[in-house]
Amino acid sequence: MKFVDVHAHMYLLPEMKKELDAKGIAVINCGTNPVTNQEVIDSSYFKSLGWWPLEKGFFDVVRKQVVENNPVAVGEIGLDFYWSETKKKQVVQFKKMLGLAQELGKPVIVHSRRAEKDVVEILEGYDLRVVMHAFTGKNSLVGECVERGYFFSIPGIVVRSEQSQKIVELVPVEQLLTESDSPYLGPVKGERNSPLSIPQVVEKISKIKGEFCEKKLLGNAKSIFF
Ligand SMILES: [Zn+2]
Repeated sequence: MKFVDVHAHMYLLPEMKKELDAKGIAVINCGTNPVTNQEVIDSSYFKSLGWWPLEKGFFDVVRKQVVENNPVAVGEIGLDFYWSETKKKQVVQFKKMLGLAQELGKPVIVHSRRAEKDVVEILEGYDLRVVMHAFTGKNSLVGECVERGYFFSIPGIVVRSEQSQKIVELVPVEQLLTESDSPYLGPVKGERNSPLSIPQVVEKISKIKGEFCEKKLLGNAKSIFF
């Protein structure tokens, strides 16, 4: 294992485990609802089981999947006020999933869009290892999360997104992780992303930090997930 993609949706991509193994890229496959969670459970990647804020489903079903399958994390979970104003329902769902992760001692992989402040406020009530995935909140919120010891996973889009590059500047390398969010957020606009982009993310982070970060980033992922 040389690289870790801490957040990808591999059930949306063709099978590529062998190719990734040959390149030393380990992947955490993230489910978003009972159906995709099952696809993650059936896959040969590391598993994270979650419930995306706007996905349908029943908590009891998701809970059972998490309890029975010992995933490396609970996620993708979070809040998304960009697509919907179903705020109350989302908050209830998010809190249930955070409670479950805390009960089982699992780290969480958190999505937040137009809801960064609410997410950070809610997380304060829990004792959890937290990964903020593709975070784009204000600098002050980033600072708050860094103080609390949260990790930030940086997607392939960092190659071309100033917002993402800013997060790399603000967060100490000890709290950075790499992700692809495949098939989304890739280095090339409009092109399907895959975990094969992770070495590019490591290279960009190293360039911004002015040091060779590959070993540190791998160590960070190991310390939280494996
Ligand atoms: Zn995702």
